Amino acid sequence: MESTVFEIISELDSFFPKEIEFLPCTEPFRFLVTVILSGSSTDKMAAISAEKLFSAYPNPHSIAGAEREEIEKLIHGSGLFRAKAKNIQELSRIVDQHGIPDTLEELVKLPGVGEKTASCYLQRVKGESAVVVDTHFERTAFRLGLTDTHDRSKASREIKETIDKEYWSRLSDTVNSLGRMFCRPKPKCIECPLSKLCPKVDVKQE
Ligand code: SF4
Repeated sequence: MESTVFEIISELDSFFPKEIEFLPCTEPFRFLVTVILSGSSTDKMAAISAEKLFSAYPNPHSIAGAEREEIEKLIHGSGLFRAKAKNIQELSRIVDQHGIPDTLEELVKLPGVGEKTASCYLQRVKGESAVVVDTHFERTAFRLGLTDTHDRSKASREIKETIDKEYWSRLSDTVNSLGRMFCRPKPKCIECPLSKLCPKVDVKQE
């Protein structure tokens, strides 16, 4: 591992708390559905939509048998509600019959489950080491020089190839948090704890 990458990992690790909060629920099926709902939305809206959905239909069997329009109404606030309702209902039918698989390769075959959602599930629910590349992670990791691509799948592969597996989950959490707090689309480099190590620090702000 290059020393600069190690320095970035260490600096991030010491800056952020050991436990970084994510979605409040860890029940596997509800977690998976909530991460699907969070796509193109916020975690807060996803959690609200999930609460509405699971209050009315508490398990895969009941969601599978619900009217599609009812699901759409309940998750409306999280955006892209028609596509999400379709995916969630198809996912419910599969999970109701076969359960949830526990490998990345099988998870990404489920309706509405991409690599980010699958990795997030493996990390948070199964306790596995995983690289979770969402929009915050991708933007921030690129600026920090942890990857040289904006393609999320390639970025995930690059990071897995260059960084030891034991760091993947913590790196995912801390880079994501840095992206939400400082490395926004318009970055706050002056306040950023990584400004001394970051190759893309915005010098115009200094
Ligand atoms: S110094 Fe600026 S560009 Fe670099 S990680 Fe921090 S906020 Fe992002």
